[in-house]
Amino acid sequence: MDIPQRLAALRTQDLPVHGGRTMAYVYDAGLPELDELAGRAQAAFAGVNGLDMTAFPSVVALENEVVAQTAALLGGAPAGAAPGTTGGAGPGSGLGPRPGVAGTFTSGGTESCLLAVLTAREHARLTRGVTAPQIVLPATAHAAFHKAAHLFGLDVVTVPVDPESYRVAAEDVAAALTERTALVVASAPSYPHGVIDPVAQVAAAAAERGVLCHVDACIGGWYLGHRRLAADLPAPPPFDLAVPGVTSLSVDLHKYAYTPKGASVLLFRDAELRRHGWFAHASWPGYPVVNATLQGTKSAGPLAAAWAVLRHVGTDGYVDLSRRVHAATARLVDGVRRIEGLRVLGEPDASLVAVASDDPAVDPFVVGDEMRLRGWYLQPQPAFADSPANLHLTVTAAVADPERIGDLLAELAAAVGRARELGPPQVDPALVELAGALDPRTLGPEEVALALAAAGVGADGTLPTRMAPVLAVLQALPPALTERLLPEVVSRLYAG
Ligand SMILES: *Cc1c(COP(=O)(O)O)cnc(C)c1O
Repeated sequence: MDIPQRLAALRTQDLPVHGGRTMAYVYDAGLPELDELAGRAQAAFAGVNGLDMTAFPSVVALENEVVAQTAALLGGAPAGAAPGTTGGAGPGSGLGPRPGVAGTFTSGGTESCLLAVLTAREHARLTRGVTAPQIVLPATAHAAFHKAAHLFGLDVVTVPVDPESYRVAAEDVAAALTERTALVVASAPSYPHGVIDPVAQVAAAAAERGVLCHVDACIGGWYLGHRRLAADLPAPPPFDLAVPGVTSLSVDLHKYAYTPKGASVLLFRDAELRRHGWFAHASWPGYPVVNATLQGTKSAGPLAAAWAVLRHVGTDGYVDLSRRVHAATARLVDGVRRIEGLRVLGEPDASLVAVASDDPAVDPFVVGDEMRLRGWYLQPQPAFADSPANLHLTVTAAVADPERIGDLLAELAAAVGRARELGPPQVDPALVELAGALDPRTLGPEEVALALAAAGVGADGTLPTRMAPVLAVLQALPPALTERLLPEVVSRLYAG
């Protein structure tokens, strides 16, 4: 087998990245020409190194244009500004950004969130003398913020969300603020339930205490920002840098801007705040270092590909894609509500829909397995706190034809029928009791092996085709134990 054939053969084991049936991880605009355009840009810039922007000025030019277009969309145009009155806005981008907005192109949402937290930590230390920083997170904030707290040494203060709407209450955030708070996060929307936190109220509460506020618009920002430009679509509540008190915002381009993976933008209210997250080093015998991101050597490939896709689709194109996604999501939510045994969690504000069961005989993860057999991938979200077990559906433009959504709903109804026949997986209560008594910190290799075998995981880390029984065990375990076991599964996969 030659090299391209071998690569193509490996790809056949994966979920498809086009066609809209993989409703997590991948984003398909349904525009057939994008792949080639992006692929060429990526290849042309793959070897260009963003580590030294003086050696590769193309990187500066491309990044400035991508950031300007993002700032024009989400940088907080002052209220009442006429379209196009501020210079530096991206091509055809309507409103200009608030003067002074600065940004950084990053490798993805996680890196954007990490940098927002690092910046806030340094800002709090330098301007407020905070030495033991805290970060205030709604329970629905993305795991990337917990990763940031873990990496950068902040204590997490979690604020529960409303059990019906899944939105955080600004009063609860306000009550969680202390002298040590470096950053408050609000999501637009949150990943698990696709609802928008009350950004204006949360940001106001933060501002009152002199605390920075980050809006995580990683998944929704590009979609909501363009939906807002369409007069015929419902405007989202204010969520961007125009909102007083919002000091930074992350938006992934590799989600609803449909660019290749490795593309996100982190916006700051100004360059003075942004600089706190940068790393400069001149105290070694090598080259002087200035890093705006976590990477050192940094391929310009994803940046060039993102630039090309943004240019090609353009503001009108994205508005049109948002229109399609909005219609498809509305149809999906309505259709799911008509399927007996299913319910939608909260009132989705964007293009993410969490589908739970309201019939004990219907296990959502069995429904997920049945959908997988029918060629659809819906992402399982185990039960946690007030959020019951559910399937997470990310609606992209590729699935937006009314008939595709019709197909999806028909398959979903059939999968529910089948799941009802099969019934929920049974978890041995003795097993759960035993597992609950284990201390994750002292678990040795043999106990780990036993626990994984009991959950149905193969010795080489392979997972069964039917995941519902595994997920049933997982969600019955304490999260700390799950956090001990999951890396073991992955470690077996990477055993070589
Ligand atoms: C996807 C996502 C992230 C993390 O982004 P990655 O690109 O996967 O690293 C952060 N926040 C939200 C709300 C997201 O949906």
